[in-house]
Amino acid sequence: MDLELTNEQRLLRDTVREFARAEVAPVAEELDREKRFPYEIVAKMGELGLMGIPFPEDYGGGGADTLSYALAVEELARVDSSVCITMAAHTSLGTMPIYLWGSDEQKAEWLPQLCSGTRLASFGLTEPEAGSDAGNTRTTAILVDGEWAIQGAKQFITNAGTEISGCVSITAVTGEADGRREISNLIIPTGTPGYDVGEPYRKMGWNASDTRPLAFVDCRIPEGNLLGRRGDGFKNFLHILDGGRIGVAAMGVGLAQGALDEAISYAKERRAFGQPISKFQAIQAKIADISAQIEAARLLTWRAALEKDAGMPFTLTAAQAKLITGRLAVRATEEAVQIHGGYGYIEEYPVCRFYRDAKILTIGEGTDEVQQMVIARQLGC
Ligand SMILES: Cc1cc2nc3c(=O)[nH]c(=O)nc-3n(C[C@H](O)[C@H](O)[C@H](O)COP(=O)(O)OP(=O)(O)OC[C@H]3O[C@@H](n4cnc5c(N)ncnc54)[C@H](O)[C@@H]3O)c2cc1C
Repeated sequence: MDLELTNEQRLLRDTVREFARAEVAPVAEELDREKRFPYEIVAKMGELGLMGIPFPEDYGGGGADTLSYALAVEELARVDSSVCITMAAHTSLGTMPIYLWGSDEQKAEWLPQLCSGTRLASFGLTEPEAGSDAGNTRTTAILVDGEWAIQGAKQFITNAGTEISGCVSITAVTGEADGRREISNLIIPTGTPGYDVGEPYRKMGWNASDTRPLAFVDCRIPEGNLLGRRGDGFKNFLHILDGGRIGVAAMGVGLAQGALDEAISYAKERRAFGQPISKFQAIQAKIADISAQIEAARLLTWRAALEKDAGMPFTLTAAQAKLITGRLAVRATEEAVQIHGGYGYIEEYPVCRFYRDAKILTIGEGTDEVQQMVIARQLGC
């Protein structure tokens, strides 16, 4: 497996690194404090081609591979997780199902506006009674006079309630086949009567990203808004989660790297007992351990991306990468706070936000326990 980046991949990584440094870092603390959605940054990311990296250029996408996408995600997470998850959830969860299973008409309608970042897409799988047990969908969609009538609720949906939210793709029970519940995917445009977007949650982190509950009360959409084949909805969304895990793993690597960057630069500045704290072995050991773990996690994440791009099975590697990078992000941000001493507990220092932002990486897109289940199953258990 060739781990040398191509010129295009390096160029994209460097472009996003510079963008994150120049445009995101200066406002990240303020956006988090004010819990303000980063509209200006999303618009700039759209102009730079970062809102549709893996989609074909015909639709306004970047035509790039999964590794390129992971590199971009890592660079954003290194500076700000809210901006990063806005881009990542839009791309690998929101837009991807429409690209993979949309009809020509659906793709022509949605992909250009989604790839340009002028509209956002979201992914509605989780429900109040269907989180890890995502197949326990209670939302129903019944065909009535050529329209789907949808009843139900979704929980914790990213990007659904912004001024530029365009649509949500959901799972819903559309009937029964062979004695089993038939789950299908449907596209619901924002603003459809009966589609109610609730108030944003008050969260531990990801404060500048948009997360909402959704309710559907006799929400009617055209029959043609069925996404993919009827009955394939659960299988298709599990496939989306497989790919999404590579992005979330890249977020974990980026967040851990950002925490390490901050910790090293602080340790060189801060003096105690007459010398910079970076001279103490106890501090050096933390920095050394985290740096080694980041390198290992990055390689595993890249491997999952390369497997996906090569058309190889990648479920096992993606789940392994997601599992270890989430835990690494939590550990690295905690160590970074520790190295900052009391200042790490103060919001002016990025590591304080990083620490709050890390925890969700062991929960979202499948908890650690779910990753363990996926891994064990892949290993034949
Ligand atoms: C900020 C945020 C953004 C999100 N964005 C989205 C989004 O855009 N779209 C979307 O669809 N969802 C989204 N989610 C939902 C997220 O994916 C779920 O929260 C997650 O999958 C866990 O589901 P749950 O919260 O219902 O927890 P539960 O499934 O209730 O789990 C509770 C605990 O039980 C454990 N558990 C459950 N089953 C088992 C088992 N079989 N074996 C061992 N342990 C088990 C879990 O690991 C966990 O520790 C988001 C969540 C958050 C917080």
